[in-house]
Amino acid sequence: MNASEGWQRLESRLEAIDRRVRSLESDPSRRNSFIPYIVDRDSPYTNVDGQYPDHDGQPLLMMSGYSYLGLGGDERVVEAAKAAVEQYGTGTHGVRALAGSIPLHRELEAELARLLGREEALAFGSGYAANVGTIGALCGPGDTILIDKIDHASIVDGCQLSGAKVTRFRHNDPGHLDRRLQDSDDSGLRLVIVDSVYSMDGDIAPLPQLREVCDRHGALLMVDEAHALGVIGRSGLGIEDHFDYEHLVDIKLGTLSKGIPATGGWVVGSSRLIQHLKYAARPFLFSAALAPAQAGAALAALRILESEPERVTHIQNEAARLRAILNEAGLQTGLSETAVIPLIAGSDEGAYDLATACRKAGVIGIPVVSPAVPTSLARLRIAVTANHTKAHIDTAAEVFIKAARECNLIEA
Ligand code: PMP
Repeated sequence: MNASEGWQRLESRLEAIDRRVRSLESDPSRRNSFIPYIVDRDSPYTNVDGQYPDHDGQPLLMMSGYSYLGLGGDERVVEAAKAAVEQYGTGTHGVRALAGSIPLHRELEAELARLLGREEALAFGSGYAANVGTIGALCGPGDTILIDKIDHASIVDGCQLSGAKVTRFRHNDPGHLDRRLQDSDDSGLRLVIVDSVYSMDGDIAPLPQLREVCDRHGALLMVDEAHALGVIGRSGLGIEDHFDYEHLVDIKLGTLSKGIPATGGWVVGSSRLIQHLKYAARPFLFSAALAPAQAGAALAALRILESEPERVTHIQNEAARLRAILNEAGLQTGLSETAVIPLIAGSDEGAYDLATACRKAGVIGIPVVSPAVPTSLARLRIAVTANHTKAHIDTAAEVFIKAARECNLIEA
């Protein structure tokens, strides 16, 4: 086989993506609502990179961000990132186990472990790497991993890397998990993995019930706190804080790229678990360490999360208020019980049209369509952050309701 035959075989795959992009780009209004290039620091009002020719250049109210704590533009966080670059430079030039470790990594890990109530922590280059690395290091052939049907892709990829048998159970259904565990091979390790908060629906895993089922079958329980840290719980410390337990899960991990405004991932657990990951988690061993600016920014943001719990309360109160206003007007917000609020449009076209109508009224709501979600559940993924004032939420609610009427999603 020569190289051109190789390219021919690849052609059908390239063509499939091409077709999808062409169909999106055939309608400029859809293309324009698809991926905005944000040119401002974290703020509820933002500018985008000149991609909306019909827009008169006024800043847009961002209602689809991930910076839940609203700290992306915070001066203290920016200064901490700058100080880290001044001291350690821009890169870590290697993996942690060779020449890539800096004292900031140790400090960040100590802070994560203390704040999240575990003996030790380990920082990864991303949340994706934390999931893939941890699952791959803990499980292998002969083991069984049981995952919620809509767990994040990085969990799915970690399962594949591990070589363990993978079984899915119905979303947030401990009864179904129970039956799956009953039917599973109990000769190896059994690990149950759930997201604490589901990123597209904004609902919370039923942790106490899941724990009870796991205990009955001798299974370990791991949670991905990507959308929970800074968002749920009285102090914003995630799912155990939310259900008011100190220690209900065996392995907690998450990202530093959402509530915490940096990039990176983390795992917390017992010292022995963390030691094992240091020697066995492949992305920790074979991928570059967290960059200094990211470690510095993350550390500063964690300290702000602890010292300003009012940010968390604000997110929770305003999200509940926004949901209530939208529901009252007849808009469907799915299963949401957190800062993430889906505005269900019911079709891919409907979601694009709704996004375009919102943008024309000055609000960014990013459409999420198939295959990310079933077409019938295509939506705008709305998220409330600590930077949204009551007035921003009122404005956004008004725009969503008016746009939904224009798009015939609710009665005028
Ligand atoms: N887990 C969940 C639930 C996520 O939503 C994401 C990011 N979308 C990740 C893990 C991966 O995190 P990161 O972007 O830091 O790689």
